[in-house]
Amino acid sequence: MRNDPLPDRPIPVLRPLLPTASRLLPYLQRIDATRVYANWGPLVLELSDRLCTAFALPPGSVTCANSGMGALMGGILATAGLAKPQRRLALMPDFTFSATGLAAQLCGYEPLLVSSSRQTWTFDPRQLLNRPELLAQVGIVVPVAPFGRLDGLADWEAFRDATGIPVVIDAAACFEVFERGGVPVGAVPMVLSFHATKSFGTGEGGCVLTTDNQLAEKLLQCLNFGFAGTRNTALPSLNGKMAEYAAAVGLAELDSWEDKRKNFERVSGLYRAAFAAKGIANRFWNSPEISSSYVLLECADSRASIALGTALAERGIETRLWYGEGLGGHDAFSDCPRLQLHGSDALDPGTLLGLPSAVDLTEVEIGRIALAVSQSLEPEATVSR
Ligand SMILES: *Cc1c(COP(=O)(O)O)cnc(C)c1O
Repeated sequence: MRNDPLPDRPIPVLRPLLPTASRLLPYLQRIDATRVYANWGPLVLELSDRLCTAFALPPGSVTCANSGMGALMGGILATAGLAKPQRRLALMPDFTFSATGLAAQLCGYEPLLVSSSRQTWTFDPRQLLNRPELLAQVGIVVPVAPFGRLDGLADWEAFRDATGIPVVIDAAACFEVFERGGVPVGAVPMVLSFHATKSFGTGEGGCVLTTDNQLAEKLLQCLNFGFAGTRNTALPSLNGKMAEYAAAVGLAELDSWEDKRKNFERVSGLYRAAFAAKGIANRFWNSPEISSSYVLLECADSRASIALGTALAERGIETRLWYGEGLGGHDAFSDCPRLQLHGSDALDPGTLLGLPSAVDLTEVEIGRIALAVSQSLEPEATVSR
């Protein structure tokens, strides 16, 4: 490894990279020509079609939205509608980004925050089936694939069929999983985010995947003021449509996705090699287990990860607890009811510390991070898996 020429240059926790202006130009010129800017115009439809192809899904399985949170709200409204007095609860893991809780709250639900297992980072629906008195109050379940990790997600379609309770999966960071064909998409809607910080980005944007054509139709309605054919607002809904300009970014991003994916792979390889050389590779999380846009270090507990974050900050290396202390750590959700399913095996949301990620991180930068981590880690501060 070379000596670091710029030892004090700060490394941000995330440095997104979306298509440049010149790569957007052909798409923007199409917008100039059609003068269609909104309302599922030609670019949004083309992006939806190309995403169906990329995910090997039947045509019509992808509905684009203005954000991941908009897509979540559309999914909740299309499957469950607004909360009803007898079924006010939205069951979801505590370990997620605040958008999951906010989307349910804005549809009238009270989030019920469920603990996650240390092993899977989520919870298993079979642990809920023996609680009929609780399920009787649940109007929607929003399981989450944290950091794009889908392997812990159990059979939610079976849960939905057994209980009749609608399920919308927050798979915000799972673009790569679907692109690899890693998980079959069925009728249960799966929500993706195309926020700039996700591996595949449109700036702001998102989509819902479902193979249920009727549900896809209803999603279009719920994301467009409840309109279906006429200008009548037929049901509770929002404006969650993707703009043509965001679709332009998405199409250009798809054009060069292969390059972006290879660059992420290069960064992941460099990280793994650098961490292996320091003997700390066993607590390192990155693609393919989670989304490429996250580089996580698994610490023993929140205290250890906070100490590590402070030590790295002193060396100009920015870190982030992406999900903070879990949903319950936010003021907006601090009064929400909780369900503890995992006892001493529950995941402490503060253990997974986000390290710097970018498609153009250099070998020198990654070497600096690995060195700083290995020198700052307290003995026993990380866990083996
Ligand atoms: C990014 C993210 C969202 C929100 O997506 P936006 O497009 O920013 O609205 C929701 N849930 C999870 C788990 C996320 O990571």
